[in-house]
Amino acid sequence: MRQARRLDGIPPTIFTAMSALALRTGAVNLGQGFPDVDGPASVIAAADRAMRDGANQYAPGPGVPVLRQAIARHQQRHYGLELDPDRQVVVTTGCTEGIAAALLGLVDAGDEIVVLEPYYDSYVAMIQMCGGVRRPVTLRAPDFRLDVDELRAAVGPRTRFILLNSPHNPTGTVLSRAELQAVADLAIERDLVVVTDEVYEHLTFSDDTGGHEHLPISTLPGMFERTLTLSSAGKSYSLTGWKIGWATGPAELVGAVLAAKQWLTFTSGAPLQHAIATALDDEPDWPRALAADLRARRDLLCDGLTALGLDVRRPEGTYFALTDISSLGWKDGMEFCLALPERAGVVAIPTQPFHDTSAGDQLVRWAFCKEAGVIEEALTRLAAGDLSG
Ligand code: GLN
Repeated sequence: MRQARRLDGIPPTIFTAMSALALRTGAVNLGQGFPDVDGPASVIAAADRAMRDGANQYAPGPGVPVLRQAIARHQQRHYGLELDPDRQVVVTTGCTEGIAAALLGLVDAGDEIVVLEPYYDSYVAMIQMCGGVRRPVTLRAPDFRLDVDELRAAVGPRTRFILLNSPHNPTGTVLSRAELQAVADLAIERDLVVVTDEVYEHLTFSDDTGGHEHLPISTLPGMFERTLTLSSAGKSYSLTGWKIGWATGPAELVGAVLAAKQWLTFTSGAPLQHAIATALDDEPDWPRALAADLRARRDLLCDGLTALGLDVRRPEGTYFALTDISSLGWKDGMEFCLALPERAGVVAIPTQPFHDTSAGDQLVRWAFCKEAGVIEEALTRLAAGDLSG
């Protein structure tokens, strides 16, 4: 038996491979992006309560009403967006299912989708499984900004979608208002739908390089009606294993997500959905406090990697830092990352799997959503190891 052709050429996700490598070798895992401290105790207690109170059977397909209402309030509170929780909000099994359902629900075979490169690996897998064609637009070192001319050039007669991600994994770029406006202008001019993954929406940093507040593209004039916004609680509340995400936007686009989603998971995580409703309503400031705390860990990691001779991109958002490893004499990030557990007892993520072009060959991603002691241990190991290429 062979796999279906729709999976041809799609490798297993690099995150699983590298976490398994970390486990096998006892390396410090700065690869897969999950925090090593859980989210708010009050939210975990709310999940416990929801289970005891009997929220243990299927949630409604679109999600439990209290969560859809809380998501609508979240979008209102943070961005001034007014959503009808019954028609413009659907709960998904993490943002990854949101992406899958959005593409399955909207993309026809042969449709082109412009996507920022480096891209999150599930985008590529799902675009291919839907028969879509990806048109990457590269965010390039050293500053990883959006090249608007390149974006315009990527849009052709068969382009129907722009798949955006900001704050952007893995570059740490937070698209500026001007960049988002350029995307919006193009989407309106060429009648494109924007699908935007905003899971790091609250994890942005202000510092001497300026403030980097996240701006949802759906808030720009003329954009709400053509934007499907995806997000989740996993990153904002350090509950990545709960897989509670959501899609918001105009009823037509959200309806397409639901139309596909009902045949994927149907529905999931009923008690967790109740708990996330309390997180959004009762702990609205928790994600910003996390971001403030992450900022210190970002600097700890970035300063440490710089001291080791790496070229570091200090991120504006997310919990990842990119480095260029050519300064250490390496040409290939995959080789570097496969050698790293043995050389230094640390795991990081190569970014080749997130590129069509060679722009990522020497870029390696490090996660700083780990406790300071873990980051320090990784840096100590790196300093003691032979990192030369
Ligand atoms: N989004 C997280 C990351 O980029 C984890 C993704 C995953 O494991 N599928 O590391």
